[in-house]
Amino acid sequence: SNGPDPRTRAGAAVKAADRAHVFHSWSAQGLIDPLAVAGAEGSYFWDYDGNRYLDFSSQLVNTNIGHQHPKVVAAVQEQAGRLCTIAPGFAVDVRSEAARLIAERTPGDLDKIFFTNGGAEAVENAVRMARLHTGRPKVLSAYRSYHGATAAAIHLTGDPRRWPSDSGTAGVVHFWAPFLYRSPFHARTEEEECERALRHLEDTIGFEGPQTIAAVLLETVPGTAGIMVPPAGYLAGVRELCDRYGIVFVLDEVMAGFGRTGRWFAADHFGVVPDLLTFAKGVNSGYVPLGGVAISAEIAATFETRPYPGGLTYSGHPLACASAVATINAMAEEGIVENAARIGEEVLRPGLAELAARHPSVGEVRGTGVFWALELVKDRTTREPLVPYNASGADAAPMAGFAAACRRGGLWPFVNMNRTHVVPPCTITEAEAKEGLAVLDTALSAADAHTV
Ligand code: PLP
Repeated sequence: SNGPDPRTRAGAAVKAADRAHVFHSWSAQGLIDPLAVAGAEGSYFWDYDGNRYLDFSSQLVNTNIGHQHPKVVAAVQEQAGRLCTIAPGFAVDVRSEAARLIAERTPGDLDKIFFTNGGAEAVENAVRMARLHTGRPKVLSAYRSYHGATAAAIHLTGDPRRWPSDSGTAGVVHFWAPFLYRSPFHARTEEEECERALRHLEDTIGFEGPQTIAAVLLETVPGTAGIMVPPAGYLAGVRELCDRYGIVFVLDEVMAGFGRTGRWFAADHFGVVPDLLTFAKGVNSGYVPLGGVAISAEIAATFETRPYPGGLTYSGHPLACASAVATINAMAEEGIVENAARIGEEVLRPGLAELAARHPSVGEVRGTGVFWALELVKDRTTREPLVPYNASGADAAPMAGFAAACRRGGLWPFVNMNRTHVVPPCTITEAEAKEGLAVLDTALSAADAHTV
């Protein structure tokens, strides 16, 4: 032959340039081999060799509307032609329209929108608002949570991974949220788990001193930590505790919001209205960086005559707001949230249950909408995880092998510790979802080989 295909050479050049100067997040620079991506559309992306991947990760669980949605691409192009940038202090049509569309969909009286450039920054600002509103210093947040990688957000994160830079944060106290499969309370039923989790939270509030606690921060449905849908009554119980002690209730919907669970917001499943709700990711499917905090009337009133000390140069950026307006409108016009709910109930719930029945490596399936986790185990009886938490190298091989089998089958999985998450775009079709389930079936056989 005459050497590699020109497309293969182009891909190799992209990878070489990446290797030369790009410093990757969350990575040992010498131990990674990033795929060179040539393009994407809908539920798929592809490399320079023509390998196409069904995106069961939605990237970082953010491309809820799929890749290259034509209405969103056109809106960004149109806005770029009209007004690319303007400081946050000005009133602009596209920003107020984005805020209106978001406020109309957030639950209750969360009617003022503070824009940020992403999720961590939204969490940072929600916590700052809660501290200023209450005049109290502490924030309670859950183990098995992810809230972002900036200074405060990483400290609020309750991940089993721990980083040296975590130590010494003032005022962050972690508590256990309910998770029956690995119950911190040794409960046997959802009712027991719920009751014990609420008693534990109230005890924690009591020992910390309610008058010192600004906020309780929770992901409505914890995502990165394993997609644990809370038992009925838990979030309503937390709401009640917050009301009783004058604590601000913050729900982080950066991952769960904007259709992921089959409703606009995960809080809608539980009939609970927080005082502050953080969002990012699905608000515009990540086409341009955007996040924000939806603020209750009471907390907004605190800052009517007193300045709010926060905001960055690019807060509420016009291109980001234009992509949010187009995303939300397209989601409404095309029934995309309803699609996520339907695919979840009619295809993923039964399809994943069937995989669990046939594969001994599946310990538990949990989720809703297009937001599912398969917890892989060595032994269903003891529930020993397929790989230990924080595994690396040879210890992590069973999960790495599972992920490689998915990719060989043309599926891009979201893998975290001993779990694979099934988190495709909200736009996924029934045929695509079934195609993905078939690949998972094959890859799970590789995981089964590591069970006892
Ligand atoms: N909060 C939650 C619930 C998240 O899932 C994430 C990201 O995965 C964040 C916050 C941080 O968002 P970002 O990475 O946009 O800063």
